[in-house]
Amino acid sequence: MPSRLPLVPVAAVHGRSLPRSPVSAIYLHIPFCASRCIYCDFYSTTLRNKAPQYVEALIREMDERKSFLRTPVRTIYFGGGTPSQLGPAHIAALLRALSSRFDLSHCEEITLEANPEDFIDGTWPLPSPSQPSMAASSSPLFAPFVPVAAKFGCQASPSQPSMSASSSPYAGGLEGVSITRLSLGVQSLVDSELRLLHRRHNAAHVRQAVHLLRDAGITNLSLDLMYGLPTQTLESWEYSIDEVLKLRPQHISAYNLSVEPGTRLHTLVQKGELTPCDDETCLQMAALLRTKLKAAGFEQYEISNYALPGFHSRHNSSYWVPTPYLGLGPGAHSYDGHNRRSWNAPDVEAYLRGDRVEESETLTDLDLYNERVMLGLRTAHGIDLHDLESALPQSCSLITLRPTIDSLLHRNLLQLRHNRISLTTSGLSLADEVIRELMFV
Ligand code: SF4
Repeated sequence: MPSRLPLVPVAAVHGRSLPRSPVSAIYLHIPFCASRCIYCDFYSTTLRNKAPQYVEALIREMDERKSFLRTPVRTIYFGGGTPSQLGPAHIAALLRALSSRFDLSHCEEITLEANPEDFIDGTWPLPSPSQPSMAASSSPLFAPFVPVAAKFGCQASPSQPSMSASSSPYAGGLEGVSITRLSLGVQSLVDSELRLLHRRHNAAHVRQAVHLLRDAGITNLSLDLMYGLPTQTLESWEYSIDEVLKLRPQHISAYNLSVEPGTRLHTLVQKGELTPCDDETCLQMAALLRTKLKAAGFEQYEISNYALPGFHSRHNSSYWVPTPYLGLGPGAHSYDGHNRRSWNAPDVEAYLRGDRVEESETLTDLDLYNERVMLGLRTAHGIDLHDLESALPQSCSLITLRPTIDSLLHRNLLQLRHNRISLTTSGLSLADEVIRELMFV
């Protein structure tokens, strides 16, 4: 999925000296998908035969933008699309290219998004790297990552192979590639629901992929789920949750299906051929998920994200705290750490031709404040009231907001602890409404 909107160090806009984040993040958009899922409005293409040229184009963009980040990179994220449609040799080539252009000495986490079927049927392309600079190398690439990878049970150095080549063609191909975290698009463990979504995998593929990955030494595994699907019931949702927990992931993301205009799902819903779950059922599904994951030891650290202690996504956190990040590839967003956001036009063909079109916007005080509220309140950590006050446009003060905050506290939708406001369990169910009440439009 494309990178999301950043949170901005708002005090800088008011002329106060807010320290810049000491680290930054890199997102690489891999826009290839083997087929289109009916609900998806992310930018992707089925032209995966363009993968070799695409890798070269990404490296070109790295060259153009290597001075964008002024601080060491803490996290790298391969998102899509389906990054596992790119062969391991290309993932390795991109990491090598990053390591020679950016300061990766503080890198703690490298995530690869993947689909289960890519670990089983081996249909991903493995073209030979076309340039000497992209050729496989036996020299250690990311020695500084070793301690972090070891912490998560993942070997990070080529000299300490992390995977068994015999376990899975893809996993074997990743041997020596410094991926420390793998995020698998599962969505459901009910075959009929997966078919309805036009996913290419079934529940058996998910189980097999997870076991292959475990055998290959991947122990920092995130599984994505979706609820509110047409035909899904509370019972089938509970089944999916239980089955996912049996796979013992370290992290679970769960998203409420949204019907986006322009998708096939939208057309089918408009025609009355499919009906997503109603709001009440979705709330019950979210509550069931929270209860079951809490009992299994997971912490809900963001509205859609749950982790065992120590396994929250460092990269996602970059979007919720003020961290500059560079997004590479068509459709990817970047953020300068102050008040400028930019993004590449979502056009793979133009990108491959070297016609990268970048657009940008300067965020106003009001935009910055609204983002601070929207992103901060999505996290379990919430927002510090001093930070909120700093973020307010100059024409406003906390006194203006106090009655709204008091009302939300009184209605048990917000809680106040150590001068931080955050959503209560009831507030989580009404997060959009609560956030809207605190925003200025
Ligand atoms: S695999 Fe499906 S959901 Fe994921 S980006 Fe491709 S089309 Fe979208």
